[in-house]
Amino acid sequence: MDDRPPIVIGAGPAGTRAAATLAAARLVPIVLDEAPASGGQIYRRAPAGFTRPYRALYGFDAAKARRLHTVFDGLAGSIDYRPDTLVWDMRHGALHCLCGGRSREVPYRDIILAPGARDRIIPFPGWTLPGIYTLGGAQIALKYQGCAIGRRVVFMGTGPLLYLVAYQYAKAGGGIAAVLDTTPFAAKRRAVPGLLRGGSTFAKGLWYVAALRARGITVANGIRPVAAEEKDAAVSALLYRDAAGTQRRLACDAVAFGFGLSSETQLADLAEIPFAFDPVQQQFLPEHDITGRTPVRGVYLAGDGSGIAGAVAAELCGERAALALLEDRGHEVGKPRPAELERALRRIAAFRVPLEAAFPFPADIAAGMPDETLLCRCEGVTAGEFRRAARTLEADEINRAKAFSRCGMGRCQGRVCGPAAAVVLAAALNLPTERIGRLRGQPPVKPIPMAVAT
Ligand SMILES: Cc1cc2nc3c(=O)[nH]c(=O)nc-3n(C[C@H](O)[C@H](O)[C@H](O)COP(=O)(O)OP(=O)(O)OC[C@H]3O[C@@H](n4cnc5c(N)ncnc54)[C@H](O)[C@@H]3O)c2cc1C
Repeated sequence: MDDRPPIVIGAGPAGTRAAATLAAARLVPIVLDEAPASGGQIYRRAPAGFTRPYRALYGFDAAKARRLHTVFDGLAGSIDYRPDTLVWDMRHGALHCLCGGRSREVPYRDIILAPGARDRIIPFPGWTLPGIYTLGGAQIALKYQGCAIGRRVVFMGTGPLLYLVAYQYAKAGGGIAAVLDTTPFAAKRRAVPGLLRGGSTFAKGLWYVAALRARGITVANGIRPVAAEEKDAAVSALLYRDAAGTQRRLACDAVAFGFGLSSETQLADLAEIPFAFDPVQQQFLPEHDITGRTPVRGVYLAGDGSGIAGAVAAELCGERAALALLEDRGHEVGKPRPAELERALRRIAAFRVPLEAAFPFPADIAAGMPDETLLCRCEGVTAGEFRRAARTLEADEINRAKAFSRCGMGRCQGRVCGPAAAVVLAAALNLPTERIGRLRGQPPVKPIPMAVAT
C-alpha cells in the first residue's frame, strides 16, 4: 500500500467530496485551489467581513452550500489544504504551482483533477468593450463582492446560467434591460418532456423565468446578437435581431453574455489523458469512465472538469473518484456505495441530453461571425484574418490554424476564444467541428508572472 498523500486539485463540490472521502480513509490529501476559500464556483464564499446570509447568496441552493462548507471546514487537520495556489503545469510526476508569487513544485503519484468549468462564449462585434462581462463574471461580482456590473444590464446568450444570473440580479435589486436567449422557443418546448425528468431543476428554471416576467422584464427567445455600440469608451447599447429577424437596439450600460460552460481540461491534457469528441456537449473531453478513472494510471477526473454535469453530479463523482483511488491503492471500499453513486450519476447524465437540447450551443452564430469581429482578444486576431490564414495556408487542423494566425496563442491559451474559433474554422473549411480537432493544452494553463515561468 502506498501512503504518499494523494492530491486533489480544486476545492469546489467535486474536490470537497473527494477530499472528505480520502480523509475518511486517513490519507491526509493535499488539496490545492487557486481561490482563497473552498466552495468552487456555485458555492463561492463571500470575503471575510461580508455578512450577506446564505439565503441571499445561494438562493434555493443555500442548504447545499452550507452543508458543503461545513464538510470542508470539518476537514481541518485531516487534509493539507493550500488555498491561493494555482497549478499552472504538471509534468514528470510534479505539479508546478504559483503560491504567494512564487513557484513551488509538488510531486504527485495519485491525483484527482477537479478544476471545474468556465463560461463558453461566442465573440460578437464590440464584445471587448468595457461593461461587457461573461455571465459567470457578472455572477462573481454579485456573489463575491455584492456589486452589479451596471445599472441597466442586458443578459444575452443561452443556458441555465442566463436565467439564474438574471434572476439573482433582479432579486438583488439590479436594473435589467432584458434577457435575450438565442435558443428559439420551439426548441425549448420540444425538450420539455425530457426536462420533466429533471424534477426540481426544471421547476427552478421555470421559477426564474416567471419571476423575471413578473417584474416586467422582457424575456425574448430566438435572438441573434449583432453588435455592441460604444459611447464614451464603454458599451451603450446592444443591437440584436429578434426571432422574426427585425433588428433592434437596446440601450444599456452593461452586457452579461455566455452560451453554456466549457470544461477546464488543460491539466488533463498535460497529464496526457486522451480526448474524445462529445456530441452532446459539443466539445472534446478527457476520456474517463463513470468511476473517474482515466487511461493514465493514478490520474482521476471529477466534476465539471470532466464534462458539464452540475454541482450535484460534481459531489457524487468527487466521492466516486476518491473511492476509485482508494480501491486502486488496495483499500476496501465495499460495493454498495460505489454502485449507489454510479446509479445517481447515470440518472443525472440522462437528464443532460434534454438540457443540452433545450439550450443548444448556437454554433451558427460562431460560424457566421462577421469578418471584422475580434475573435482572439489576446492576440488581436479578427475572424476574417483567422479564416484567411486557414484557407490560404490550408490549415484544416486547429493547432495549425493557431500557428499560422496566432489565434489562441495569447495569455488565455485559447481558453476563451478556442471553442468559437473551432466552429469558425470548421465552417470556413466546410468540415464538421470534431474534424478540425482541439487546441492542445499548454503550460501555463492560466496567466502567471514571467518571473515564475522562467
Ligand atoms: C462562473 C461560474 C458560475 C457558476 N454558477 C453556478 C450557479 O450559480 N449555480 C449552479 O448551479 N451552477 C453554477 N455553475 C456551474 C457549477 O459551478 C458547477 O456545476 C459546479 O460548481 C461544479 O463543481 P466542480 O467542483 O466540478 O467545479 P468548481 O465548483 O468550478 O470548482 C473548481 C475549483 O477548482 C479550482 N481550480 C481550477 N483550476 C485550478 C488550477 N489550475 N489550480 C488550482 N485550482 C484550480 C477553482 O478555483 C475552483 O475552486 C457555475 C459555473 C461557472 C463557471
